[in-house]
Parts: sequence; C-alpha cells; structure tokens
Amino acid sequence: MSKTNKLIISAALTGAMTPKTACPNLPVTPEEIAADVIACAKAGAAVVHIHVRDKELNFTMETQVFIDAFEAVKAASRKESVDVIVNLTTSNGPGTDDIRLAHLKAIRPEMCSYDAGTINWGKAIFENSPVFLEKLGTATQELDIKPEIEIFDASMIGNARRLIKAGFLKEPCHFQFILDVPGGLDGTIDSLNFMLPKLPEGSTWSISGIGKSHIPMLLAGLAAGADGVRVGLEDNIMLSKGVMATNVQLVERAAAIAKLAGREIATATETREILGITRKSW
Ligand code: ZN
Repeated sequence: MSKTNKLIISAALTGAMTPKTACPNLPVTPEEIAADVIACAKAGAAVVHIHVRDKELNFTMETQVFIDAFEAVKAASRKESVDVIVNLTTSNGPGTDDIRLAHLKAIRPEMCSYDAGTINWGKAIFENSPVFLEKLGTATQELDIKPEIEIFDASMIGNARRLIKAGFLKEPCHFQFILDVPGGLDGTIDSLNFMLPKLPEGSTWSISGIGKSHIPMLLAGLAAGADGVRVGLEDNIMLSKGVMATNVQLVERAAAIAKLAGREIATATETREILGITRKSW
C-alpha cells in the first residue's frame, strides 16, 4: 500500500507504435509534445513519459530529436511556470544499445523507462538483453536518473531482483506495471495480485492497462493502494466506445476517478519526494 495519500499520475503521451493516422490527437512534433505536457501537467500529471518521432512520424531514438522535444518542453514549462518530471523512453529493437543510452547522457532527464526483460510484442521481439539492462542500470546511477522499471510480464520482477542484487539497480525501486500488451500478462486483478507480493520490500509502484484494460487497471491500482497510475495515448487512444481521446482528457479523467477514490493528486515536488528523485534545474 502507498505510504501516502498522494497519487502520482503519469501521462504517456505518444509511444512508439500508434500511427498519427490512427490517432490524430497523438502529439508527435516537439511543439505538439510540449503543448500536451503543459496541458497534462495542469490537469494533474506529475510525470510525462516521452517518445519521439522522426519527420515521417515514425518512432526514432535519435538523440537530436529527443533534444528538440526536451528543449520545447523546457521552454513551454518555463513560460507557463509548470513543474513536471520528464521520463524519457529507452525502448527500441535489437542491436541498438548505444543509441538507447545516448539521449540520457545528452539530456540527463529526471526519469527514464527501464524495461526489465525481453518479451514478444505482437509479431516483434522487444529485446532488453541482460547486457543492455546492466549498461542502462549503470547509466541511471552515473547520471542520477530515476529508472521506472516497466513490468509487462511476471518474470521481469525476477530480472529486476537479480539486477538489484548485482548492484545495477538501486533500492528503493519504482515499478510500472503495464498490462495487456500482446505478449505480456493479461490486464486482470489476478495478474496484479500475483505480482504485487513479489516486489522488493519498500518499492513504489504504478499501473497502466493497454486498450480495453485502461480503466479497469486504473481502478485495480486504486483499490490495491498504488503509488501511481499511468494514462495516455501511448496506452489507450479511446475515451469511450467510438470516441477518440486526447491526452489531457485521459489525465483529467484519471484525476477525477482518483479523487472519487479518496486520493489527492501528487505534485511534481511531492512525486520527487515519494520516488526519491533528484530535482534537476532547467
Ligand atoms: Zn513508453
């Protein structure tokens, strides 16, 4: 159970998979990403999880594209006096270890994703080799970046435990359950119940469900005493049947449901305290 009544809302704005053609509200340019960051932060998101796209709007890990998005976010946040924690993705396909770390070294964000194992993802392989996870763990410690350990499958908790023991991850750790990806664990209470007792003692955790599981897993997380919930177009593009969502609508709805459940919404400052994140000056 969360040690505080404050709930951390993370907004996963863009993701790698969804084409802009399938979701016109998806922020893909630095300006669109920055605008969604500000709107979501004002609606209650303390953390924004960012992927970037190239000129053809395809997923890219090019450092310069991350820098462009980060600079746009920084400028907009200053202008609007908004405080938000930036969590940059580190995901990509096989054989790309170095580029997956380069933007972290260039930007030194406050958080980054840490996908704690390899799974099938639809027809692709989402590869996170032991060597890569060791490199990424070392980089997060050297650069003082809080890793958000993404859990798609129960075996990833075992991986994380081994990486903690070997010194590549530092406790207390923060976990993000992302359930119902094609190839991962189902988005059910059963999955969550099975995994929660396996987290190392003193860990914090958040949850998101993909697609149809989006709201059910948010509710499950609230019922189980989550430290955070994640919403956003990366995970779900529908507000209701036949109605396309925007990121800010998904954050607003999560904040409203959380308040109904008796939770207060954590600010960025409170989130840094809860997760032990070093504030970095912009
Ligand atoms: Zn992501």
